[in-house]
Amino acid sequence: MLYTSTRDKQVAVTASFAIANGISKEGGLYLPQFLPQVSMEFIASLSALSYAARAKKILELFLTDYSEQELDDAVTRAYAAGQFEDNLPAPLASLTERCSVLELWHGPTCAFKDMALQILPHLMAAGAKRALSGKQILILVATSGDTGKAALEGFCDAPGISIAVFYPDQGVSAMQRLQMASQHGENVAVYAIEGNFDDAQSGVKAIFGDKAVNDLLAEQNILLSSANSINWGRLVPQIVYYFSAYADLLAEGKLKAGERVNFVVPTGNFGNILAGYYAMKMGLPVNRFVCASNQNNILTDFIQTGEYDARRNFYTTLSPSMDILISSNLERLLFDLSQDDALVSDLMRELKEQRHYHVSSEIHKKLTDCFYGVFVNDADCQEIIRRIQQERGYLCDTHTAVAVGAYERYHAETGDETQTVIVSTASPYKFAPAVLEALGEQAGEDEFAAVKRLSALTGTSIPAPIAVLEEAKVRFTKVISPADMANEIIAFAKGE
Ligand SMILES: *Cc1c(COP(=O)(O)O)cnc(C)c1O
Repeated sequence: MLYTSTRDKQVAVTASFAIANGISKEGGLYLPQFLPQVSMEFIASLSALSYAARAKKILELFLTDYSEQELDDAVTRAYAAGQFEDNLPAPLASLTERCSVLELWHGPTCAFKDMALQILPHLMAAGAKRALSGKQILILVATSGDTGKAALEGFCDAPGISIAVFYPDQGVSAMQRLQMASQHGENVAVYAIEGNFDDAQSGVKAIFGDKAVNDLLAEQNILLSSANSINWGRLVPQIVYYFSAYADLLAEGKLKAGERVNFVVPTGNFGNILAGYYAMKMGLPVNRFVCASNQNNILTDFIQTGEYDARRNFYTTLSPSMDILISSNLERLLFDLSQDDALVSDLMRELKEQRHYHVSSEIHKKLTDCFYGVFVNDADCQEIIRRIQQERGYLCDTHTAVAVGAYERYHAETGDETQTVIVSTASPYKFAPAVLEALGEQAGEDEFAAVKRLSALTGTSIPAPIAVLEEAKVRFTKVISPADMANEIIAFAKGE
C-alpha cells in the first residue's frame, strides 16, 4: 500500500518513508491511497486476542512494507512489555447500561498520547532504516506539557534516534516539569525556554528551516524529524482501540455483531476522532461520532455551520490539552470528504492567510452525516465530575468530563439510545488540583498533596508513574534563551 498527500495526489511513498519523514514536502499530510476493508468476522475475531495482537492485525493492513518480525517487535514492546498497567492498554469501564468509558490512560504518562507514542519510535526506527538508508534521526519537540513527557518516554533509548524537548519555563505545572526534568535515557535532552509555548514552538520551527544547522547535522548523518500528531505513525495506532472497544463490547454481550455504536471523543487536534472515522470507513459499524470541545468551540461551530473560523478568542480552560484553535488533522478529513487535493490546498492557504474558510454544502452534508459537535464549558465540566463521582462512583478527569457532558447533551437533543463509548483521555490524577476543586475541595499549591487528598477522598489508587515522581531525581536543569536553541541542539548532536 502506498501513501499520498492531502495537498498533492501525485505523491506516492511507502509507509516507512511517510513515518520517517513525518510531513510531505509541499506541506500536505500523508494518508493511505485507499483504506483497507475488514469484515465483521475479522472484527469479531479480535475479541479473543490481546491488545498487542489486535494492534498487529490492524497495523499490518496499513504498514505493508514492514516485515512481520518488525511489527511483532513493535506491538510487543509497546503494548505487552509492562508499560501499561496489567498489559491492558485500553480497558472498558461500564458507566450505564448503554454507555461505557474507554480508558486510554493506563500508560507511562497517564494520558492517551502514550497509545501512539509508545509504538511510534519502533515504527520510526524500522522505517528510517529502510527509507532513509540508515540515517540517525533527531526528534525535536516543543511542548506545553503532556506531549513532551509522552514523547520522552516513548523515544528514550530508541535505537538510532535521539530526542530533544523544549518547554516554556513558566508555562508548565510543577508536576509536568518534574516529569520531564527527571527523564531517564541516554538519548534524551530537556530544556526549559525563557518564554512561552509559542517561543518554544517558533524556535523549533526555525531550527527545522535553518539550512546551516541542517547541513551541520547532515555531516554527522543526522536528520531532523518530528513526532507531532500529524505523523501517520501516530494516527495509525489510534485506529486500533476503536476496533478493540467494539470487540470488547461484543465479548461482553453488550453488542450484537454488526450493531452500530456511537463514540464520544474529547477533541483538540482532531487526531483521536479522525482515527475513529478511519475505523468506520474500514468497516467498523459506527452510528455517530460526537466531537466534544471545551470553550474553544471552533469545531462545534464548524460542524454546525460548515464555516471554520479561527478569528476568535483563545480561552485557557480546565481541559488544557483541548485548548486549540487550529486542529491540524482536520485537513485529512477534508481530503477524505472531498478527494480533492487542490481544494484542500486552497482551504489551508485561506486558513493561514485569512484565518477562516468554509466548505461546500455537499461536503458539509457528508460531515454532519457522521459527526455531531457539542461543547461544554468549565462550570459544567466541574459539575459533571462531581455528579458522576457521586452518582456512579466513577472519577473522571477534566477532558473526559467534557466528553461525558457532550454525550448527555447529544442524548437529550437526539434521544438516540445507541450503545455509546466515551473515550477517556487522561487519568484524573494527571489533573488532580482541578479534579479536587471540582469535587468541592481546596487544592492549594502542592500538587502531590492534591494527589494524596484525591486518593483519600475517592478511595482510588494513585497511578504508579505519578506516585514515583515525588522521589524522582532531577537530571535536566538548563534554562536557555530561545536564541540559543540551535546551538544547544548542535552540541547535543555532537554528544557534548
Ligand atoms: C491530546 C489530548 C486530547 C486531544 O486529542 P486530539 O487527538 O488532539 O484531538 C484530549 N485529551 C487529552 C488528555 C490529550 O492529551
